Amino acid sequence: MAKRDFYEILGVAKNASDEEIKKAYRKLAMKYHPDRNPDSKGAEEKFKEVKEAYEMLSDAGKREAYDRYGHAGVDPNMGGGGFGAGAGGFGGFSDAFGDIFGDIFGQSARGGRGGPQVYRGADLRYNLEITLEQAAHGFDTTIRVPSWSECETCHGSGAKPGTSPTTCGTCGGHGQVRMQQGFFSIQQTCPKCHGTGKIIPTPCTSCSGTGRIKKNKTLEVKIPAGIDDGMRIRSSGNGEPGMNGGPPGDLYVEVRIKQHPVFQRDGDDLHCEIPISFAKAALGGEVEVPTLNGKASFTLPEGTQSGKTFRLRSKGIKGVRSGYAGDLFCHVVVETPVKLTDRQKELLQEFEQLTTAGGSKHSPHSKSWKDKVKEFFE
Ligand SMILES: [Zn+2]
Ligand SMILES: [Zn+2]
Repeated sequence: MAKRDFYEILGVAKNASDEEIKKAYRKLAMKYHPDRNPDSKGAEEKFKEVKEAYEMLSDAGKREAYDRYGHAGVDPNMGGGGFGAGAGGFGGFSDAFGDIFGDIFGQSARGGRGGPQVYRGADLRYNLEITLEQAAHGFDTTIRVPSWSECETCHGSGAKPGTSPTTCGTCGGHGQVRMQQGFFSIQQTCPKCHGTGKIIPTPCTSCSGTGRIKKNKTLEVKIPAGIDDGMRIRSSGNGEPGMNGGPPGDLYVEVRIKQHPVFQRDGDDLHCEIPISFAKAALGGEVEVPTLNGKASFTLPEGTQSGKTFRLRSKGIKGVRSGYAGDLFCHVVVETPVKLTDRQKELLQEFEQLTTAGGSKHSPHSKSWKDKVKEFFE
């Protein structure tokens, strides 16, 4: 069967631009793509034809040869060409598709055509425990983190001195191998060399063939005022090094705030319990409270009940993204006095008699409670 003209296959003019050829190819490749026509032998043939035409016309050298000599100029079976590898069969599928279907195959991270796979280094996490005061005010600190430097024994090659890495035979140094999956050919990282394209026959003993030595380094970290538990600070480029010249990962300093003996944090607000004597709760007066910025006070009204909350505005924490500080909530806990002296007991007994004599007006809660109980039993 005579071969059809490549331009005719793609439906473009002889003087079509590269862009036009690509566009036409893309359209036809989508139409006849085996994934879209799983059971059609005709579509598969069309697809092969379209692909071959595009491979020829998208390559300047091959296109020129084709224009000059026709099929004889580019078909290796016709003795005219020898124009590069991958023109026959379906091995060249993803190369020909690379720029168009690259995103589908997840090959966008490839480090140059045919070169070994480039990998970004892994991110690292460092857990930093700080106090609530440090979180509220911010502070500068230093941390010890792992870092990697070139192995001095092998100067980074990973090969024992006197030996050298060899090109990986499995992938021919490309770092990538093609896996045939039915009609598809998919590129994968070479399982033998893990994408480096090289094999180290005799690894360097100092670095076990990795080419680098792990050390620790000191890093300065600025903790911004208002940082909250679980927040992370990114230190760009301080993660693990990349592979094959890939960029390093990042270091994330994750902040953990230690429990505070007095305050509980809730976003930008703080909460604390304030124990008050029952006499003070009854009489009222000024109450001094601690804050993260020194002392503050509030007025306790006469007859304050246990559990009552007082809000001190702006005595909380100003969060990293907040325009103003949160509030401090003081939860009053009335404390029953213990270990009383005889005199104290005497006074309290007298006090109790007077209170009882005064009737229910001194204890509104008790009155309503007694009423409820009465209703319940009647
Ligand atoms: Zn080494
Ligand atoms: Zn390999």
